Amino acid sequence: MSDGFDEQGEERRPVLRYPFEATPQPGSGETVEVAPGVLWLRMPLGGSLAFINVWALEDGDGWTIVDTGMRTEPTAAGWKTAFAGALAGRPVKRVIATHMHPDHVGMAGWIRRKFGAELWMTRLEYVTCRLLAADTGREAPEDGVRFYRAAGWDQAAIDNYTARFGGFGKGVYPMPDSYRRISEGEDILIGGRPWRVVTGSGHSPEHASLYQPELKLLISGDQVLPRISSNVSVFPTEPEADPLTDWLTSLARIKTMIPDDVLVLPAHNDPFYGLHARLDALIRGHERGLLRLERSLAQPKRAVDVFGALFARPISGDVLGMATGESLAHLNCLQRRGGALKETDADGVTWWRAA
Ligand SMILES: [Zn+2]
Repeated sequence: MSDGFDEQGEERRPVLRYPFEATPQPGSGETVEVAPGVLWLRMPLGGSLAFINVWALEDGDGWTIVDTGMRTEPTAAGWKTAFAGALAGRPVKRVIATHMHPDHVGMAGWIRRKFGAELWMTRLEYVTCRLLAADTGREAPEDGVRFYRAAGWDQAAIDNYTARFGGFGKGVYPMPDSYRRISEGEDILIGGRPWRVVTGSGHSPEHASLYQPELKLLISGDQVLPRISSNVSVFPTEPEADPLTDWLTSLARIKTMIPDDVLVLPAHNDPFYGLHARLDALIRGHERGLLRLERSLAQPKRAVDVFGALFARPISGDVLGMATGESLAHLNCLQRRGGALKETDADGVTWWRAA
């Protein structure tokens, strides 16, 4: 659920440089040292994303871990191998989660149990994670059914939604009942070096990236990915949300705060150079999407009718929710800019047209 769609086409792909030939095998416990005291590991994921990158930072007599992988047996096995091997049997003192998606925070509770490690997160990410995990076992809410019906889903898609509702908690080991809040602008001292918290919003509510100026490193989580664009979605809990404006603002802000010469350590794909070019390309990609979307609304359309304007690949069952949420993010943004209007018909279906 964490990430968006593979990007197609050269025009959207800036010139990025990937300095590492060797990559750690997902779930193997292998590490690659990307900078002094900064180790790169990969944990396996099911689905279209094969793995997540996680980071172990030397921290005195132990480790600070940034992101943890999804709650699965292969991930637990990967960590056990790493702890016994490359991490030299030293304890994890602290886990920092960039944000609350299961592939990032899923094993935080497990690592906490194993080592007594503290969990450090921004407040909105921690609270939202606890909230979504608490949906486990609940019935799908009527608000959610109404939301997806308004977007144009048929009964089969609605049934699938109600059957799978509450699945978030399956990928997350029970969360620690307390945490240490991290905030925008804070310097976290890890192994004697300050790592600056840089927050962003849109993919998740208060995502934290970590910037280390001496080593010229940016652990970017899902805020900046080199080859895929992170999912930016509207959800039934807040149908009028405009996360795309938040996202575009966050990307532009990071460009003003982080120099271009950092090595970016993203949660997916490979570490890369070319931060500013990538930020520009991500912003440009969404702006082009908004233009295509506005043109497509010459005829009234439902959210499910605009996929072709926004996505290069066909949308089928497993990504329908993500595509619908992302389409609504673009539609709400366009409406906020004065480019689109919506009307809801007698069946509760919302129709969008260019303003
Ligand atoms: Zn994510």
